[in-house]
Formats: sequence, C-alpha cells, structure tokens
Amino acid sequence: MFEAFVTLCLAAGGPCRVALLPGYGADTPSACMAALSERPPAVPEEAAGAPRCAPRPVADLSFTEIAPGVFAHRGAIAEPDAENRGDVANIAFVIGSEAVAVIDAGGSRAVGEAVYLAIRARTGLPIRALVLSHMHPDHVYGAAPLAEAGAEVVGRAGLARALADRAVSYAEGFGSRIGAPGFLGTALPRVDREVAERTGIDLGGRVLTLEAEPTAHTATDLIATDSATGVLFAGDLVFAEHAPALDGSLPGWQGVLGRLTARKAPLVVPGHGGPALPWPGGAAPLARYLDTLAADTRAALAAGSPLSEATRNIGVTEAAHWRLFDLYNARNATAAYTELEWE
Ligand SMILES: [Zn+2]
Repeated sequence: MFEAFVTLCLAAGGPCRVALLPGYGADTPSACMAALSERPPAVPEEAAGAPRCAPRPVADLSFTEIAPGVFAHRGAIAEPDAENRGDVANIAFVIGSEAVAVIDAGGSRAVGEAVYLAIRARTGLPIRALVLSHMHPDHVYGAAPLAEAGAEVVGRAGLARALADRAVSYAEGFGSRIGAPGFLGTALPRVDREVAERTGIDLGGRVLTLEAEPTAHTATDLIATDSATGVLFAGDLVFAEHAPALDGSLPGWQGVLGRLTARKAPLVVPGHGGPALPWPGGAAPLARYLDTLAADTRAALAAGSPLSEATRNIGVTEAAHWRLFDLYNARNATAAYTELEWE
C-alpha cells in the first residue's frame, strides 16, 4: 500500500519531519498521486514542498488486543518531551464488522499518524469515529490525522469551547515541551459532534456507547463502553501508576468513580497506566488517593491551615504509590483546597 506524505519544517533549514496525510491510501503510487491531484489535501502550514506518495511504513506504536477486536496502547508514564512526542496517554481502538472507532489520539500529530498506521496494519475498514475522552492535550493533539482519515470527532458537550479557551496555554505548555520536529503540524482538533447525555456508535456487530459525565477529572469527561466485550474506556476518570491530575471537581470525581465502580465490566482502559485493568479493582488506588486528598484537605481547612502550608501536607502519604507524584500532588492539593473551602 502507498500513502501520501509531506515534509514539515519549522523554518528553511529545519528541523523537519515527514508527516503522513491519511485519506490517500492506494494500491499503487500512481493511484495515490491521482487522488492527491483530485482532492488536494489541506496541508499543515509548516509544509515544505508538495505532497508525494511513498510505501506505507510500519506502525511504530504498539497496541495489544486486550479483548476480541479491542486494541489498547500504553502511553509512557512521563511528561511530554522531544523523545516521546507526547505519547504519554493511553489510546484504544475497536474494530467492528463495518467500521473502526478510536478512543483518544495521543499528544501530537505524529502520534495520531502512528495510530492511523497501527489501525491500517490490522484492517482497511473505515475509521468512523474518534472519541475524545476529555480536553487534555495528551489525549487530543493527535486527532487531526484520524479526522483526515474520515473519523467524526466526538466529545462531551462543552469540549469545543474548552479546547478553544485553552488553545494558547496548551501550545505554550504542552507543545513547547515536545518542540520541533516532533510537534510540527500539530493543532487542536475541531469537534464534529458533542454528546450531552448518551449516544451510540454502531461499528457493525458492536456498538460503542458514549456517556457524558458530570464534572470530575475535568468538565469534559466522556466514557465509552463496547457492547461486544463490555470493556470500559474511562479516559482519565481512571489513573493507574501515573499520579492523578485534578482539573475538575474532587467530590464530583469521587461521585463519578463510585457510580462507575458499581458497574460490571471485564476490563477498563484507564487514561494512564495499564492499558487494561480489572474492574472495579483497577480503580482502587485512585479511589484511595481521592479519599486521602479529600480527608487531608478537610482536616487542613478545619484546622485553619493556610493554603501555602496545607499544600505541603495534603496527600503526601500517597507519595510512594504514584510516579510523577511531585509534579501533580501539590497542584491537586491546591485545587482541592480552593474547591472545598467553599463547602
Ligand atoms: Zn486528563
């Protein structure tokens, strides 16, 4: 098979990377080139030179089949950097008899291109939907190549607005840590459809049910469940190994997690760690962390401890249980303190 590519450069002289342009896959280079001239692609603004066709490369992102037709990739437990290109969150896809759906897209266009290749290594079926579990950049920045491959980009109600509000801070914070060449061509996605309550995506022989959650990890959390296997795709409503990040509501998150853990599911794909964990046991460390955060925060507030002092103590007994703990716990403590202060 052949695919279309374009070279992206930060400036004349580089750094550069070769980007894949999904949507032009063909059996021969001439058919690929004909498709390019019939439907010229909207190339990223860093494009240097014209798109061209070349053999489809081997995907360099590993996915494990965790249940029949359900594939999951484990993102690095790390902050985004030049080496991992933002591949720091889990990604999954589900193959039905008629179509494919992807859940989350990784943290850069390069990762999204690798997701496309990993899917195409297993099936030529249309990629019908890309479900974004929430707004965070490590889950959404890889969306564009999957949208170009034909996927409808689906998120919870409020996602498009949340992304627009954070576009500058995500590019400056997350994007600049990856830098060029890894982040070249990366942009936040447009959201084609927002889910306010619940909807289903029929993939042929199986339906992916999407449910909007109240504010918990963030105000844009959306979960998915595969009807054929029962696998639950929780996004960052479930963290494992990687220190949790609170960017929504602590009591909200405790409530959502309590409700989800009362459900039956054979496996959960968390947003970080795993990538497949037993359910509900896979959520136990997170539930314990959130309970500790809440109890410590309420104790600090009851003792009249000021924010600066409280954030040095809240949650610290959890330190040994999580990677990247110091990067996240103090921020979580601040968020918990400022939220629970008004109870
Ligand atoms: Zn997140």
